[in-house]
Amino acid sequence: MSANSPQPIGSTTLASEQSAQQAVYLPPSDLSKKYNKGIHLPTPTSAAPHPSASVPGSTKIKTIENFYVRPRWLFVRIETEGGVVGWGEGTLEGHTEAVQGSLKDVARRLIGWDAMNIEEIYTYLYRHRFYRGGEVLMSAMSGVDIALWDIKGKVLGVPVWELLGGKIRERCDVYGWVGGDRPSDVVEQAKVRKAQGFTRVKMNATESIGWLDSPHALDDTVKRLAEVKAIGIDAGLDFHGRVHKGMAKQLAAALEPHRPLFIEEPLLPGHVNELKDLYNKTTIPIALGERLFTRLDCRPYFEAGCIDIIQPDIAHAGGISETKKIAIMAEAYDIGVAPHCPLGPLAFAASLHIGFSTPNFVVCEMSWKMHYNTGGFDLFTYMTNPDVFKVEGGSVGLLTTPGLGIELDEDLIRREAAEAEKLEPWINPLFRGDDGMIREW
Ligand SMILES: [Mg+2]
Repeated sequence: MSANSPQPIGSTTLASEQSAQQAVYLPPSDLSKKYNKGIHLPTPTSAAPHPSASVPGSTKIKTIENFYVRPRWLFVRIETEGGVVGWGEGTLEGHTEAVQGSLKDVARRLIGWDAMNIEEIYTYLYRHRFYRGGEVLMSAMSGVDIALWDIKGKVLGVPVWELLGGKIRERCDVYGWVGGDRPSDVVEQAKVRKAQGFTRVKMNATESIGWLDSPHALDDTVKRLAEVKAIGIDAGLDFHGRVHKGMAKQLAAALEPHRPLFIEEPLLPGHVNELKDLYNKTTIPIALGERLFTRLDCRPYFEAGCIDIIQPDIAHAGGISETKKIAIMAEAYDIGVAPHCPLGPLAFAASLHIGFSTPNFVVCEMSWKMHYNTGGFDLFTYMTNPDVFKVEGGSVGLLTTPGLGIELDEDLIRREAAEAEKLEPWINPLFRGDDGMIREW
């Protein structure tokens, strides 16, 4: 399969390709029957450790490179002295050059460190460097961290979830996007998503909206949710931090009878007390977290009891290491984890490994055919094994090969990065109100 002709998720053309795995992997509908009979599904056979694993010094970091590729992703490639290559993703949408600057600094300092000591490298980058946290430094660290987990899995011959405590589920629920920055045609798109195998979608709740807008500005939002749900699919609504408090409480009340899956960023991060007020006014689950970095950022929201779902973005929050810790911390507050992931294949694979190994995982975002993937670039463009992300019954199956479990076309990535370097990196659109005032994206 060509890297530029992604497998149409939802089709059945992969059945024959997957037949060899049928002894181990069952269709989603059969899983519960098997489990309910008390039959334990066998763990996939792990590969042998990489030949370099027993060679002293072979796991030392030899090179760290980064590649900006369209539509808007930043990949990190780390190679060890033993020739093991790990890939990570530190995409920070609209701030590519800032993360690349941080990665340049990081790359210089980590040559010669043992790639297997992920926690030590994390501690060095986070703790030793005095200034810490925030979206730029943490996205760079995330890209490095994800690549290190990929290396560790490949060196030991096991999938990343095996290193995170083993699998707790065979499949991870996912959702796709409908509508764009300014939601429209969502019903037709939701029908397409359903045909593609999704059972859940997410859409923006509103277009850009004034601080105090007409109550009628919310009517279309309610109508869209009702219409999407009428086709038999669940929908989360992303307020995107666009809706201020006075409008958010009206919108939550209007949506409540139609039972959205969740409302996301109903207020901007930082408004912990105001979120708590909203939380107490609605029965709709409240999700937030794509703009929080590390456990420390999440802590006030957990302690205030103002969210039901934490949405760490694995490419920003601190990679696999920190996202796993956020998830464990959230469980103590009865908060579910829904990794935010409108990004590339590496961030998506890394998020799934959290899902396969984490009890309070609920659902993961999937960027396949989302509105930001333009110009012919999409989730599978750089993959040579896109079938591993096949959606069935609203979920994606276990990733089974060592490391992250995805294979990339490195030549294509290098060629595309050389082209993309000549272009201005992706930046988010600018919205203004009728008075000219800049509004939230
Ligand atoms: Mg969002």
